[in-house]
Amino acid sequence: MKIYKFGGASVKNASAVKNLAKIVNQFDDPLVIVVSAMGKTTRALEKLVEVYFNQESSVHNCIDEIYNSHMQIVEELFPEGHIAYNEIDAIFDELKSKLATNPSSTFNFEYDQIVSYGEIISTTIVNLYLNNFGILSEWVDIRKIIITDANYREARVDLEVSEKNAGAYFNNKDLNVFVTQGFLGATSNSHTTTLGLEGSDYTAALLASFLKAESVTVWKNVPGILNADPKWFDETEKLDKLNYRDAIELAFYGASVLHPKTIQPIKQKNIPLFVKSFLDPNTEGTIIGDFEYDKLIPSFIFKVDQVLINIHPENLSFIAEENLERIFSIMAKYGLRANLMQNTAVSFRICANNDATRVPGVINELSKFYHITIEDNLELITIRYYDQATIERVLVKKEVLLEQHNNKTVQMVVRKLD
Ligand code: ASP
Ligand code: MG
Repeated sequence: MKIYKFGGASVKNASAVKNLAKIVNQFDDPLVIVVSAMGKTTRALEKLVEVYFNQESSVHNCIDEIYNSHMQIVEELFPEGHIAYNEIDAIFDELKSKLATNPSSTFNFEYDQIVSYGEIISTTIVNLYLNNFGILSEWVDIRKIIITDANYREARVDLEVSEKNAGAYFNNKDLNVFVTQGFLGATSNSHTTTLGLEGSDYTAALLASFLKAESVTVWKNVPGILNADPKWFDETEKLDKLNYRDAIELAFYGASVLHPKTIQPIKQKNIPLFVKSFLDPNTEGTIIGDFEYDKLIPSFIFKVDQVLINIHPENLSFIAEENLERIFSIMAKYGLRANLMQNTAVSFRICANNDATRVPGVINELSKFYHITIEDNLELITIRYYDQATIERVLVKKEVLLEQHNNKTVQMVVRKLD
C-alpha cells in the first residue's frame, strides 16, 4: 500500500483533477489517496462560517459562490446527467440545511462542521472522476477512521483507536484504490473535527503509519522541497534528500512545505516520504527518509508579521520559575506559540506570529503582572546549516533585534530598514 496526498492546488480546477487521474493511472500500486479541499475552498468556507456565526445576510452569496465554483468543475468533468451532479447537489443541500439552522454558541465547533465540507466535496468529485476514468476506487469517510478529542479546529487524534479502525477498514478490502479526506476526523460521538490548517499532510502520514505503507507521496506544485520559499527568494535549490530530523526542523521553523506534525508518525515506522511535482510526476523530487549526512546546503525560512513581546517584572526580580510558569500558562490559554524566546536576568522576550485572535489577550493578561513592551512588523529569519556569508546575505538593510545560534541553526528577529 502507498499513500498519495493531493493538496488544494493539485485539485484546484477540472484540468488539475484530470491530471490527478493520469498520475494515479500511471502507477498501479494499491493506493490510499488523501485529498484536500479544492483550491481556495477552505478559505471561502472560513468566510462562510464567520457570516453564518454572525447571522449575516451574505450567507447566501457566500454559499452560492462556493457552489458555483464547484459546479463549474463538475460540468467540465462529467457529461450531462452523470450522477456527480446529484451527489454534489445533495452535499450542498445538506450544508444549506445546516446553514438554515441557528448556530450554537461555540465558534470552533461550527467551524469544523462547515469547513469540513470542502474535503467532503473534493473527494466526492475526485472519486467519481476516477471511476469515470476507469479506475475502480472507493470513497472513504475518514471520520469513521480518525477519531479525535473534541478540541475543535486543532483536534488531537486518538492514535490507538484510529489505528485499529484503519486496519479493520482497509485490510479487509480487495479494492486497490481508495479516496479519502485529509484534515478531518470525528469525535467518538461522531461530531466532525479538523486537525489544524494544512492538516492533510498529517492525515496522509497517520494513514501511512497505521497501514504500514511502503511510502507516502505528497504531490505539489513545486519540484520538491526547496531550500527557500520562491516567494521570498529568487534563487532556490531543491533538496534531494532530507533526513527525518531535518524535515521536522524545517517544518517546525515554518517552511510551508509540510505540516509540522507530518514527520513523526512516518519516522517511527521508517516510512519514506516523497515530495514530488504533480506537473512533472516522473522527476525525482525530494525524498525524506533515514539518511545520514553532516551538512546540507543552507535552508532559509522567513516568517513575516512577527511581534516581539518584552516582559519585564515590575520589581526587577529575576525571571524565575514562577514567572516562567505564569507566562507559559497565559500563552497556552490563548494558544500562542513562541517562535523564539530569550531570557536575560530581568526580562523575557517572546517572538510570535502577530495573530489578532491571540496576541491581544496574552498581552492584556501579562500586563496585570509585568511591564510589557511590544515591537511589531518584524520578521523572523531562520537559517539551517548557516554560514557567515548566508547570514550577511539575508541581513542586507535589516536591523537585528534578537538572535539565537546553535550549531546548525541561526534565528534572527529583524526589522526592515528602508
Ligand atoms: N484544506 C485544509 C486547508 O486548506 C487542509 C489542507 O489543505 O491540508 O488548510
Ligand atoms: Mg494545502
